Formats: sequence, C-alpha cells, structure tokens
Amino acid sequence: MEIVEPGRMRPVLRAPLAQTTLSSILAVCPGVNVDGNNHAEDDPRIQIDPVFGPTARVMRGFASDDDVRLRAAAGGGLSALAIYLVESGTVDFILHVAASKFAPMRSTRHVSFDRAQVMEGAQSRYGPVAPLEDVVELLDRGQRFAFIGKPCDVNALRNLARIDGRVNELVPYMMTFSCGGFPDELYYTRFLSRQGVRFEDLTEFRYRGYGFPGPIYARTRDGREVKETYLEFRTYPWTSQFRCKICPDHSGEQADITVMDDWPGGRPIRDERDGFVIIQARTKRGEKLLIDAHRAGYLRLEESSLGAIYSTQPHQIPRKRGAIARLAALVVTGARLPRFRRIRLLKAGLSANPWFHLRTFFGTVGRMLRGDGREAASFARGGE
Ligand SMILES: Cc1cc2nc3c(=O)[nH]c(=O)nc-3n(C[C@H](O)[C@H](O)[C@H](O)COP(=O)(O)OP(=O)(O)OC[C@H]3O[C@@H](n4cnc5c(N)ncnc54)[C@H](O)[C@@H]3O)c2cc1C
Repeated sequence: MEIVEPGRMRPVLRAPLAQTTLSSILAVCPGVNVDGNNHAEDDPRIQIDPVFGPTARVMRGFASDDDVRLRAAAGGGLSALAIYLVESGTVDFILHVAASKFAPMRSTRHVSFDRAQVMEGAQSRYGPVAPLEDVVELLDRGQRFAFIGKPCDVNALRNLARIDGRVNELVPYMMTFSCGGFPDELYYTRFLSRQGVRFEDLTEFRYRGYGFPGPIYARTRDGREVKETYLEFRTYPWTSQFRCKICPDHSGEQADITVMDDWPGGRPIRDERDGFVIIQARTKRGEKLLIDAHRAGYLRLEESSLGAIYSTQPHQIPRKRGAIARLAALVVTGARLPRFRRIRLLKAGLSANPWFHLRTFFGTVGRMLRGDGREAASFARGGE
C-alpha cells in the first residue's frame, strides 16, 4: 500500500497476480464488499437500529488513568480497553496504528504488547493508513490479538474471516470508532505550508489529543512547535476519496465495540476540555469486555443510550439514510457497484423523506458526471 497523489493510499502491484489471488483480494477488500452481518442480530437481546446498527449496550465515560485520558483522541476509551486486554492477558497483543517514526505525518500499522506501546498508538490519525497490510503474517504467529481500526478496516477483517478461519479463532475482539471520513493528505501539507514547516523536518505530528479534541500539532528537528486549534483548522476546505462518500458503514456495525466523541451536535464547542466518549457495545462479547474493563478499574462509565448516539453523531444519520440513493446514482451513471449486503440500507432509507433522497441522488449523479468517482485505474509499478 502506498501514498499516491493527492495523498491517498492505494495498492501497488509488485508482480502479476494469479486470478485466484485477485479473487481473494476482491472478496476481502472493503471498498468492494461490505457485509453488515456481525452475527449480533442472531441474538434476540441485541437491539438493531437501522442507522446505528446492532446495540447491546451504550455507555458514556473515560479512561480512569488521567494520562491515558489526556493523551488520547477523546476520553481514551479505546486505549483503556486495549490496555486492559493486554494487561489482563486476555490477548497477546493489539493490532492498531501509530505515527510513522520516519515520516510522522503519516501512519503505519502498529503492534502493542504493553501499555506504553498502546499509548504510542493512541489518538486519531486523520490520514491514510493500512493497519491490516500484513495481517496474514500476524495470524501466522498463532497468537491472540484484538484489532482496532476504522469501520472499513473491520469490514475487511470480517471479510477475511470468511475465507481464513484463523480470524475468528485468534481475533476475539474488533473495535472501531464512528468515522466521518478523513481528508486527503494535501489538507495537512497545506497546514505545514501555512506554518512554514517542511514535511522532511517533522519529528512529531499529532492530529489531535492532549485536550479534547486538542490541537493539530507539529514539531520539527530544530525543536520548533506549531499548532492550530481543532475549530480553526477545520474551517479550511478539504477533499477526500469518493469511496468514503458512498460508505454504508460509518459507525462500524461489524465491530464488537464502537467508540465515539461525546459532542452533542457532532462538533466541539470548545477546543479543549476533559475527554468523554460514548461507547456502543454491539455484541454480547463487546458488552462483557466493557463491563470487565470497568470493574477492573480501567474505565469510568455510566449508562447512556442510543439517543445519545443520535445526538452526538448527527452527521452520520444522512450518510446511512442516503446510501441507497447514492447507490441508485451509481446504477444510472453506469458505474461499477460495490456489494453492500445486510447493512439495512433500505430500512435506514425508509426513515428519510423523498426530497432528501432526490437531493442525495442528484448530488451523487452530479459527482459522477464530474468524474469524482474515477481515478487512474492502475497503480502498477514497472509497467506491470
Ligand atoms: C478518520 C477518523 C474519523 C473520525 N470521525 C469521527 C466522527 O465522525 N465522529 C466521532 O465521534 N468520532 C470520530 N472519530 C473517532 C474519534 O476521533 C476518537 O478516536 C474516538 O472517539 C475514540 O476516542 P478514544 O479517546 O477512545 O481513542 P484513543 O484512545 O485515542 O484510541 C484511538 C485508537 O484508534 C486507532 N486509530 C486512530 N486513527 C486510526 C486510523 N486512521 N485508522 C485505524 N485506526 C486508527 C489508534 O491506533 C488507537 O488505538 C474519527 C477518527 C478517525 C481516525
């Protein structure tokens, strides 16, 4: 996986692929295949919300450890769960992401065996990264691990589970966060230009954290520090890949646990405050993990509700409700369709009015006619 203009991660072909390999890749790729069934729906105790998916329990809280809470993206919910899992010996390691040591604006897959390593990977990384790039080699180790990634990363791992039985055996927990998408890397290189900082000189780059949400921050070799507050930074226009615009699963319906920012209205009104997260346990297994981590003192939690998710994630509601109209727009413009199955698109769509669907449909038709849905078909290297 490599970064290509304008700052997107794409697969690069190193050698010609056998047809069977290509078929496996397409079966696993979350850009092509999303199957919303995480088997939670087989359990009558799980409530299925058409927009926010399977829900066993919703809680609100933060990491009990002040340092975890401060350094994390929001309240340190994911980091606290990860630390609990490794310190209790429930899993051998956590697979997630962290800043690249060589190019800190970029991110790499990260494997954590202890608290310090988990915290190296804390915070949201709003840039492209492929946490599963060597997951098959990690499965070869035969150790148990928990996975933290974007909803699409979880989609990929669930897809892989269908063709590699070791996933269900060795990965007992998959955790994610509500994902509003992320901008092309160009958005961040512009931040560097505004601040007069060069990409090559960076020694640290944080997208948020140290406050809730905390600033975007960069430090250079000569010790210079630059930052912009979250509220200021987010006023600059951004572009992102088309696939995120038709995403049917922004809230990570296939995960055991989804964690999200506790901002009623979906946006922070202050640049810094003590972090809080809303945690949606989707499976009974996820719910048990949450309660165990709480009882063991890793998380401070109180009961919350699906209503709190609707209130803190208003931007995700039209995304799910409109996914069906966006797919219809792909059909009429002759585009290739991804396979989105068992993710309740029709049911979610029915809760929106016809004007909303018409606007969404024509919006996507417009994007397609402008060519937004296209990009160079091949990233093959060496003329492959
Ligand atoms: C691209 C992106 C979009 C988001 N959009 C929303 C949103 O619309 N609404 C909302 O409520 N929350 C959103 N979040 C999540 C939010 O920023 C917090 O991460 C979330 O609330 C969890 O906070 P925390 O303190 O528990 O996380 P932390 O304890 O800081 O842990 C975060 C974990 O996520 C992993 N991680 C971070 N970035 C990535 C990445 N790019 N790919 C894979 N794994 C990653 C880290 O390795 C770490 O383990 C988004 C995050 C990202 C990365």
